[in-house]
Amino acid sequence: MDARNPYEMAVSQVRSVGETLGLSTGIVDFLTKPKRELAVNFPVRMDDGSFRMFTGYRVQHSNARGPCKGGIRYHPNVSLDEVRALAMWMTWKCATVGIPFGGAKGGVVCNTKELSRGEIERLTRRFATEIEPIIGPYEDIPAPDVYTDSQIMAWIMDTYSYKAGRVSPASVTGKPIPLGGSQGREEATSRGLMYCVREAMHARKMEPAESTAVVQGFGNVGGNAARLLRDELGLKVLAVSDSSGGIYDPAGLDIRKVDEHKRATGSVRGLPGATDITNRELLELECDVLVPAALEGAIDKSNADRIRASIVAEGANGPTLPEADRILYEKGTMLIPDILANAGGVTASYFEWVQDLQFYFWSITEVNERLNRIMTTAFNRVHSHSAEKKVDMRTGAYLLAVREVVNAIEMRGIYP
Ligand code: NAD
Repeated sequence: MDARNPYEMAVSQVRSVGETLGLSTGIVDFLTKPKRELAVNFPVRMDDGSFRMFTGYRVQHSNARGPCKGGIRYHPNVSLDEVRALAMWMTWKCATVGIPFGGAKGGVVCNTKELSRGEIERLTRRFATEIEPIIGPYEDIPAPDVYTDSQIMAWIMDTYSYKAGRVSPASVTGKPIPLGGSQGREEATSRGLMYCVREAMHARKMEPAESTAVVQGFGNVGGNAARLLRDELGLKVLAVSDSSGGIYDPAGLDIRKVDEHKRATGSVRGLPGATDITNRELLELECDVLVPAALEGAIDKSNADRIRASIVAEGANGPTLPEADRILYEKGTMLIPDILANAGGVTASYFEWVQDLQFYFWSITEVNERLNRIMTTAFNRVHSHSAEKKVDMRTGAYLLAVREVVNAIEMRGIYP
């Protein structure tokens, strides 16, 4: 197995769970192969009048438990294997928190930092048109992911609605609130992660007000996680980072100031009063809670041994390689796996979809109460199952999630 290939990593996770659960070769094959994959090459008119070709993907891993659901990523390193892995993780994530969706993911190979807003809009509308035959409110519902946001979701919803001949807010989640977005969706991934950290600290008898956190990645997930861990749980946030590097302040960072600095300069680095550090140094800082919230593969066998946090909450998808999982488990680190720790985002997306289908909207209090209930239940279910089976929490979550999906496949039967 190529440890850096996310799809091979995702397949090996399922194979090992399949063995533990005693699943047949047929069902393991069913679970490891995406149901449907669409690759598209399409032109986009640039601001200077020329056009450029782009490649994009939409992969639907499973619809055994409900319509497919998953984000769209814009990044230069997007590949079919990455999208396949992310789609599969969505299937397990939805099953882990018990929401009635299967998994999907999409991506376009591009660097948004080199594109104007107009170019991003044209790219988005064309990509939405290319994947339109396979998406829809009851088929496959996209959402934001790395370098995509609520504006991009608005363009996808608008494009899809024109094709459908009716306004279809439920075709996409993570939309702006005036277009049928849900209260609380923007920060829901991080809020869900914060609820998991709260439960983990409670299980480990740790006092949040006396504890510290370090967050890698200062985007939607990392930025909001840093703020919520500080403001709502009372942790001191020692360090944060983005793609250009990190900043460290042993007295604790003022997250609002970091946010303002990033908005003004484009990076967290250079914040007055804080010390610039590398992303590598950041992961190895002495702290109680570490939140990797950037991209895949941040923790591998070269640095797992040097991670000093007692709780690692995976804000990103796939930030820890399997070899690192073992090292962390053996030294007693509690790792809250991505399919649980960052499932607050898809849970709030589910809330948004339900509200859009009914054209009836909930208050922020209702959203957060429901999110709290779902995340707390899921955390405790995974935590106690893992303890009972004497396995790490990723394995515990997979055992529960895969079982759930297999039950759905078996109940539906093999057609025809
Ligand atoms: P984003 O684009 O808002 O932010 C990504 C952040 O990571 C940026 O601050 C970027 O500068 C930083 N970054 C990029 N490369 C880095 C590197 N090498 N080292 C350190 N930082 C780096 O994306 P996001 O939505 O916050 O997503 C982050 C992760 O969380 C991804 O793995 C994504 O799949 C996952 N995730 C996102 C959501 C969601 O609701 N947005 C939900 C579940 C999981």
